[in-house]
Amino acid sequence: MKIGFIGLGNMGNPMAANLAKAGHDVSGFDMADVTVPGVTMASSGPEAATDADIVVTMLPNGQILRAVANEIIPAMAPEAVWIDCSTVDVDSARAVAEQAKEADVLAVDAPVSGGIGGAAAGTLTFMAGGSDAAFEKASPLFDIMGQKAVHCGESGAGQAAKICNNMILGVTMIATCEAFALADKLGLDRQKMFDVVSTSSGYSWTMNAYCPAPGVGPASPADNDYQPGFAAELMLKDLRLSQQAAESSDADTPMGQVATALYEKFVESEDGLGKDFSAMLPRFEKRTRG
Ligand code: NAD
Repeated sequence: MKIGFIGLGNMGNPMAANLAKAGHDVSGFDMADVTVPGVTMASSGPEAATDADIVVTMLPNGQILRAVANEIIPAMAPEAVWIDCSTVDVDSARAVAEQAKEADVLAVDAPVSGGIGGAAAGTLTFMAGGSDAAFEKASPLFDIMGQKAVHCGESGAGQAAKICNNMILGVTMIATCEAFALADKLGLDRQKMFDVVSTSSGYSWTMNAYCPAPGVGPASPADNDYQPGFAAELMLKDLRLSQQAAESSDADTPMGQVATALYEKFVESEDGLGKDFSAMLPRFEKRTRG
């Protein structure tokens, strides 16, 4: 298959390399001067998209996605498939899908979970939104770049699933970190806290699989001086998207709102920038009530 791949950063680069390794003819474009093993570099987005059976985009945000859509949709052949794997706001995902539909291009919004490690290993999870026909045509690529793809519904449903999941993740991480900080003050040993909570009703992915306390539970960024992993600023981006969606759909998300405000403070006026999102634990350790 002929594939165009636009946005070859931390995630897009290894994803495109995996498609080329699987034997596809991949033409790539990025604003930055990058190279990808096995990928032929094009001089523009439209050049990468022309004659492609499938175009994949992996871009920073919805504004850039809308600009790239204006360029590549006119260059794409009717019935070609466009898979957007970027994490963006639901409104942008729906707007570009509508634009694609008018040009007979089959659009799928398919944000991912799994991070840079999952992108390199080809073990991402895709959350997809779009028609059955579009999802079916995109599936062979999901199989190469990932281990699981869930068809969540029509256009925008993939982004909706992603931001809802990450809102739970942000809120749960904060709850786990503040509980550890409280346990410290109460003189409760962290290992005992883990042993109880990880097998009791307070268990969660953030406690059981990605424990924010160093030396406790399975290996996690906490054991590596909070090097990301999943950076606090990326969590902030996703929480902001959740709050933007809550506002535009009139949903009441008070916990998501508090989590967004806390990560905002952590990243912008404390020392969270560049650290894993689980570094909220040392943040709570340093602070007292009020
Ligand atoms: P990144 O900044 O490393 O890569 C984005 C790339 O897009 C850059 O190389 C940039 O030069 C390129 N770009 C920007 N504007 C462009 C344009 N107009 N045309 C062509 N290329 C352009 O970001 P990333 O970490 O690869 O993340 C990409 C997306 O994946 C984001 O939406 C992010 O939220 C999401 N995501 C990231 C992770 C992660 O762990 N990094 C995990 C899940 C989802």
